[in-house]
Amino acid sequence: MSAVLIDGKARAAALRTEVAGGVAQFVATHARAPGLTVVLVGDDAASAVYVGAKGKATREVGMISTEHRLPATTPEAELLELVAQLNADTAVDGILVQLPLPAHIDADKVIAAIDPAKDVDGFHPINAGKLAIGQPALVPCTPSGCLLMIREALGNISGAEALVIGRSSIVGKPMAALLTAASATVTIAHSRTRDLAAHVARADIVVAAVGVPHLVQGAWIKPGACVIDVGMNRITLPSGKTKLTGDVDFDGAVARAGWITPVPGGVGPMTIACLLANTLKAATARAAA
Ligand code: NAD
Repeated sequence: MSAVLIDGKARAAALRTEVAGGVAQFVATHARAPGLTVVLVGDDAASAVYVGAKGKATREVGMISTEHRLPATTPEAELLELVAQLNADTAVDGILVQLPLPAHIDADKVIAAIDPAKDVDGFHPINAGKLAIGQPALVPCTPSGCLLMIREALGNISGAEALVIGRSSIVGKPMAALLTAASATVTIAHSRTRDLAAHVARADIVVAAVGVPHLVQGAWIKPGACVIDVGMNRITLPSGKTKLTGDVDFDGAVARAGWITPVPGGVGPMTIACLLANTLKAATARAAA
């Protein structure tokens, strides 16, 4: 048996087209385009690439993209002041402060300063709390994208055994909340979990969000399971070249799973598409308020 590949690129393209349609409608109704502002502090190369990709995708769906690139030495107070200005700016519907921030800045403090109605990353404690208690919220983009792909593969997941590996606030915890809201039976595994293999073997759905290359072995996968690999690990090959790889041993898992996401080309593209969807959602909610 060979798993069906879940094509994140194609699914993301479809979602971006859907968002572009919503943006056109928004413009026709409100005579302005939704605006997403991204703030980058410092010169982390990977972050700069992500910010560039987010800006391009934002413009492509007809939204206004604004970027603030600040030096690594920016004082925390100055960043908080910029966030306050963006909160007050009526043309800004979404604010995203690219993580990680330099060590002298308290990321939690900055996230908490963002207006929850503009928190398109879904990291503000108010949005995290609403998601946890099942109220409508801006939901973190990566787990939102994972859920869309799981639903596309499996349809109704009520009662399914779901295993989320990783308990970060960005991926693992919100993923578990979304799966719980979709009526799956959810287990969260983490660095202290005993016998990860046994948990994986029971799961109809496995979401791996750890950051350890090939942690999840193919032989552990329950035959027919849906495997979502969030991991993005850059490894060096014997040739000296580097490549991106996931948390799942793809070659082993593809022989047992029913559906599987590749890395790259799976979760990554969906994350940006969900950011655009969140920005349109925030703009629509603000316009109706
Ligand atoms: P994190 O470091 O914040 O959390 C990792 C989690 O893995 C922790 O909860 C830890 O308890 C758990 N863990 C560590 N070792 C483990 C083990 N041996 N067994 C079980 N659990 C273990 O990471 P994160 O921000 O949640 O990101 C996880 C991965 O997902 C990273 O590779 C990251 O690059 C990737 N990521 C990808 C996207 C995307 O868009 N594709 C978005 C966010 C994160």
